[in-house]
Amino acid sequence: MHAAALSAEPDRFLERRHRMVDEQISARGIRNPAVLSAMRSIPRELFVPREGADSAYEDRALPIGLGQTISQPYIVAFMTDALVPAPGHRVLEIGTGSGYQTAVLAMLCGSVITIERIEELSHGARQRTRMLGLSNIEFFVGDGSCGWPERAPYDRIIVTAAAPGIIPSLAQQLAPGGRIIMPIGGENTQQVTLIEVYHARIVERPLLPVRFVKLIGKEGFSE
Ligand code: SAM
Repeated sequence: MHAAALSAEPDRFLERRHRMVDEQISARGIRNPAVLSAMRSIPRELFVPREGADSAYEDRALPIGLGQTISQPYIVAFMTDALVPAPGHRVLEIGTGSGYQTAVLAMLCGSVITIERIEELSHGARQRTRMLGLSNIEFFVGDGSCGWPERAPYDRIIVTAAAPGIIPSLAQQLAPGGRIIMPIGGENTQQVTLIEVYHARIVERPLLPVRFVKLIGKEGFSE
């Protein structure tokens, strides 16, 4: 499914979108053609506040209101690539935010369950992804810091807010052979970390230094 193709409007951002993928993502070593293709298709300008549309393809995170951000395009690509997504996968995303990362995952995987603690953000993300014709997403509002056991198991789990440490209940919600990607560290800097479970043993691999907003909740930081 190519989300941008679903829009009847002339795509005045197409060139910027392709340049973003070539210069910020592909040039930094992300090679997965499906990830590159999804990010060439999804109109990122829809996921930022209207007055910020011209900044949508810049090489940085942008404010989306309510103290939250849409992640830098490269970080979205990096975390998606590290998940090794496949069409059959059932994915849990914690931190819906604008819904941009959700849309990328929905194009690559079978289904996405996404949790956001701020109702207004969840609502906006639902509208945007619906406009793009992405129908394989379930949106929930609440504290996702302990995962979402009601819909477990998940082949892949992505947390797009910074957690102070590994969250054991997330590992328990992972299907055999699954992967978790999440930023782990302090309130100011973290490492995007890949987590896998082998014979009930949790193995973590820090991959990339980052700065995310806080995961707020029972297993996250306090507000
Ligand atoms: N991936 C998003 C995007 O593409 O726009 C960016 C997510 S933003 C960096 C982090 C989001 O996590 C914020 O919207 C924040 O409200 C949300 N969040 C923080 N703590 C949460 C929690 N315990 N459960 C669910 N969402 C949470």
